Amino acid sequence: MPKRSSATSPSAPETLDALAARVRACTVCAPHLPHAPRPVLRVSPGARLLIVGQAPGRRVHETGIPWNDPSGDLLRQWLGVTRDVFYDETRIAIVPTGLCYPGTVKGSDLPPRPECAPLWHPPLRAAMPNIELTLLIGAWAQAYYLRERRGRTLTDTVRAWCDFAPAFLPLPHPSPRNRLWLKRNPWFDAEVIPMLRERVGHLLAAGDNGAARRGKHK
Ligand code: SF4
Repeated sequence: MPKRSSATSPSAPETLDALAARVRACTVCAPHLPHAPRPVLRVSPGARLLIVGQAPGRRVHETGIPWNDPSGDLLRQWLGVTRDVFYDETRIAIVPTGLCYPGTVKGSDLPPRPECAPLWHPPLRAAMPNIELTLLIGAWAQAYYLRERRGRTLTDTVRAWCDFAPAFLPLPHPSPRNRLWLKRNPWFDAEVIPMLRERVGHLLAAGDNGAARRGKHK
């Protein structure tokens, strides 16, 4: 029986580094995973944008690099950022709904482990107080964060994005398999993507200005 990890700090406030180390050592749902747990996350106390996807796939489990595939390319295009910016965890944090690869059934990825988000998202978010916008990519992230506020379908939820602003933005998965969805919902490209790019541009620029000001005052 794996030792159960605890998300609650026993005494003094825990640094994000210490918390991330505890997350990376987590084995809570090891009996249910196809491989040894390998939580994949990118976090930093200064990050202003948080990306919450579903759970790592097999390739991410093997490499430890999230969004390093055609879905990630489209996501970067949506955000209007280069790979360098996307993988700069001092600016953009990446924490999926389930941090470990859950395995597959009949060729499809299983859902994120249900133990994971309630255990680790609250403390991780608390340790990243500069997060201003959380992108909720796909149904599992939307279910965890929006609960009964989400729409009947993913399309309904994404279409109602204004209802969740400014803290959250629900998005469809940028998988090549979703091209038909994008074609059927042209309002997404016309309305949501320009707003998202502008928002991300402002967030990252504000973060850079803040870092420059702090540098001057050192
Ligand atoms: S999926 Fe989450 S809760 Fe389960 S072992 Fe990995 S980090 Fe721990």
